[in-house]
Amino acid sequence: MKVERKQSVVLVPFPFQGHLTPMLQLGSILHSQGFSVKVIHTEYNSPNYSNYPEFVFHSMYDGLQGIDISFPSLDNIYVMNENCKAPLRNYLVRMMEEEGDQLACIVYDNVMFFVDDVATQLRLPTIVLRPYSAAYLHSMITIFQEPQKYFPFKDSQLLDPSPELHPLRFKDLPFPAINNTVPEPILDFCRAISDIGSSVATIWNTMQHLENSLLLRLQEHYKVPFFPIGPFHKMAPLVSSTSILEEDSSCIEWLDRQAHNSVLYVSLGSLVRIDEKELIETAWGLANSDQPFLWVIRPGSVSGFKCAEALPDGFEEMIGDRGRIVKWAPQKQVLAHPAVAGFYTHCGWNSTLESIMEEVPLICRPLLADQPVNARYLSQIYKIGFELDVIERTVIERAVRKLMLSEGGKDLKKRIIDMKQNIVAGMQIDGNSHKNLHDLVDFISALPS
Ligand code: UDP
Repeated sequence: MKVERKQSVVLVPFPFQGHLTPMLQLGSILHSQGFSVKVIHTEYNSPNYSNYPEFVFHSMYDGLQGIDISFPSLDNIYVMNENCKAPLRNYLVRMMEEEGDQLACIVYDNVMFFVDDVATQLRLPTIVLRPYSAAYLHSMITIFQEPQKYFPFKDSQLLDPSPELHPLRFKDLPFPAINNTVPEPILDFCRAISDIGSSVATIWNTMQHLENSLLLRLQEHYKVPFFPIGPFHKMAPLVSSTSILEEDSSCIEWLDRQAHNSVLYVSLGSLVRIDEKELIETAWGLANSDQPFLWVIRPGSVSGFKCAEALPDGFEEMIGDRGRIVKWAPQKQVLAHPAVAGFYTHCGWNSTLESIMEEVPLICRPLLADQPVNARYLSQIYKIGFELDVIERTVIERAVRKLMLSEGGKDLKKRIIDMKQNIVAGMQIDGNSHKNLHDLVDFISALPS
């Protein structure tokens, strides 16, 4: 039966895995609610069209050919924001004139802040997608109000509580500090991504059950409707892969051969890099824990090395079949596998939500941006993870054993099961995420087009 489509919604993702994924999931959610979905994306990291035959895709010139942006610098992000203006404008004008399309609004990732300028010129409404936790944005805007309260801080303050931001310490503040202060260009950039310009609403990949008080405070600040409709990956009806890198599914066969609740999954996401020393300490920590592990070592994720060749000599032979190393895993499938008992993670927001929804407790090894904030909430407020403050083999070994074998680990598991159940309740009819989604659909449908 052909579904009568409502207006169309244009989505503009930021082309990195942790941002592209929630935008495509949001597209699936909106499509399931009857909207036509058009994805306008950069040439860099173009999504795989065949995974989303129900979307219309259009590629924009981004001016980034030949530039290594495996880790996006501020300069590259500004270049992208500048170069994409004209292509987006041209596309939207053509869409409005030629196709006579009922364009309801443009939803853009908060890092693609140029979208709001273009849309304002064309008098089109925009909605911002926040692919992060509310805790992260709340910490940023609190700091913007009085940055001098936080920066510069002294080495001796690193573990002290930071003002008004419990449970964060100075070392957890969500900006890359250089010599314990934050360069002005970084603050400016963070202001740009936290600003909503003339957007009429914000959509969140989070849940009221988890972050209600923070969301309320943020809403007071922004004064536009908020739609927390997470977790997207469970609210989205289609489960197509959104991976940019090729997934190595052979690790699922390896997991099939492991005992239930026995394996630690180790992954630091799609962007961060560690140094050789950390790789080696992690390797020995995992080896000495005596627990089976599945470890993602992404190409380029160890500074100065192409891939896993930085591992200690003889490590893989010594571990034998107890450990499995892959370049990129089908993570959601891995976390859902009955053999997986714990997740050693950088605490990216997608990984965090994916782990909670599969009831897998965490060892938190945050590195930058929102990760330290998420790690503090996971370990101190929700108490579903243990945080590593020191990256040293004996500390890692102890943390792994504690998570996998101790009573403390079982307590984390109980809490994460409760948390997941509450989130699932929010997804049912009359639950918060479900209700917020219906409000969002009504809100978009009522926008003047
Ligand atoms: N991911 C994956 N395979 C891997 C590692 C990560 O599919 O081997 C996915 C993971 O499921 C998540 C995303 O990559 O959806 C990473 O996003 P996150 O927000 O956790 O971290 P980021 O990569 O943005 O730092």
